[in-house]
Amino acid sequence: MRGSGLGSIYDWNFTTTAQPHPGNRTIDVKRGKVLGGSAALNYLATGYLPLAGANLQVRTGTRVAKVEFSAGSMPLRATGVLLDNRTKIAARREVILSAGSIQSSGLLELSGIGQASLLKVAGINTLKELAGVGENYQDHIRMSNVYRLKKNFSSFDPMIYESGGAYASEQMRLWLEGEASWYDYTSSAYSFFNWGHVGNSSEAALLQLARSDNQHNSVVDGKKLDFLMDPSVPQLEIIMEGSFVGATTAYPGNGSFATLITSVMHPMSRGSVHINAADPKGAPVVDPRYLSHGYPFLCFGHNNRFYYGKYALCYLQSSLCGGQLSEAG
Ligand SMILES: Cc1cc2nc3c(=O)[nH]c(=O)nc-3n(C[C@H](O)[C@H](O)[C@H](O)COP(=O)(O)OP(=O)(O)OC[C@H]3O[C@@H](n4cnc5c(N)ncnc54)[C@H](O)[C@@H]3O)c2cc1C
Repeated sequence: MRGSGLGSIYDWNFTTTAQPHPGNRTIDVKRGKVLGGSAALNYLATGYLPLAGANLQVRTGTRVAKVEFSAGSMPLRATGVLLDNRTKIAARREVILSAGSIQSSGLLELSGIGQASLLKVAGINTLKELAGVGENYQDHIRMSNVYRLKKNFSSFDPMIYESGGAYASEQMRLWLEGEASWYDYTSSAYSFFNWGHVGNSSEAALLQLARSDNQHNSVVDGKKLDFLMDPSVPQLEIIMEGSFVGATTAYPGNGSFATLITSVMHPMSRGSVHINAADPKGAPVVDPRYLSHGYPFLCFGHNNRFYYGKYALCYLQSSLCGGQLSEAG
């Protein structure tokens, strides 16, 4: 159910390495361990299976240990997969590796494709040296501004933070019976802006900063610059959530909350995700290098002026809001 799977047994519960720019914090990397993957954790997907053909066979509770290749073939030819329980599944035609952005590169590395130096330390035989495996990992950053609601206003918080409680159980019963329920709630509002909406000087300053960085001159960075110059492409997303979504603080309980979340759509920072050479089958080493590029820093600066000038002010003055609880990135 919406949000309640985060941090549970249905979540791989990965974290980043300590991130120097946001104060050496480690940051949760939520990933779905269930059928439907992260989209199931992200409340979206369970409806795909009926759309699949009758020849689809699903194995739940099954983990792939590596992709297997025919001996000595060059270019490499995948022949099937080996499961953690040593079962081999042969491919009739092809193997599609789709383990998500955090684990796909790790499966390649476990299969012998990646940076030879890393594979050597991990005790994995290199079948194909490929320096780019696990590199260029990019994740958009966000900032949460949490508000306490005035008395007598309710929120989605009990369904997330007290999901075993009487109120949430009753809402679940209603939902299962097809009645109106809090569990019908998805999110309150999404809005997308470009930097021109924020202000002409913001747009000019951010473009200049993004352009001035000559360390980043790949095709992907070129595309991001194109996006930045295209007024029809949003650069900033503001989401209104009817619950507490803290970034650095835990749910304080005792009350109802709402959160305005701001995301930078095209961050310039990029990092990596690799297997842990000391424990190749364990949690991956995720290093997004958040805020290592000046662009998102400046984005949040400009966003804040916009945000406090227009958005949050309306919110704080509304009959709903009982005051700002925290501001955290
Ligand atoms: C809380 C949250 C909110 C999000 N919000 C948004 C949003 O608002 N908008 C948006 O566009 N996106 C959002 N996303 C991201 C979106 O859900 C993901 O980008 C998308 O689900 C990724 O799909 P995928 O198939 O690449 O990977 P995943 O959905 O992560 O699927 C990978 C699957 O592979 C499985 N797997 C991994 N390793 C192995 C192995 N060795 N053997 C067998 N199986 C394995 C995993 O268990 C998982 O089921 C959100 C994600 C989360 C968690």
